[in-house]
Amino acid sequence: MGTNYAHIETDLCKGCRLCVETCPHGCLEMGTEINKLGYQYARFVKDACTACGLCYYACPEPEAITVYRDEPVPEGAVQGGS
Ligand code: SF4
Ligand code: SF4
Repeated sequence: MGTNYAHIETDLCKGCRLCVETCPHGCLEMGTEINKLGYQYARFVKDACTACGLCYYACPEPEAITVYRDEPVPEGAVQGGS
């Protein structure tokens, strides 16, 4: 059986935090590292995603977030944090 997760394309994120504020399950956090655009980027940090899609709709950057429903979580998809 699979699970749900949101993939964040690190180098497309502009660090607006909208996805972090929007996720009802606290799955997303801002990291402290800087991406190649010079922004701190959001990370998927908690395996509690319901694939609701709210983060996807909140994000103003095309293709920065992809939500997967009922898929095997790939190695490294949960990017640390609390
Ligand atoms: S799909 Fe929903 S639950 Fe999953 S990370 Fe995005 S906002 Fe959170
Ligand atoms: S909403 Fe999009 S651009 Fe904003 S922090 Fe989240 S992934 Fe980055």
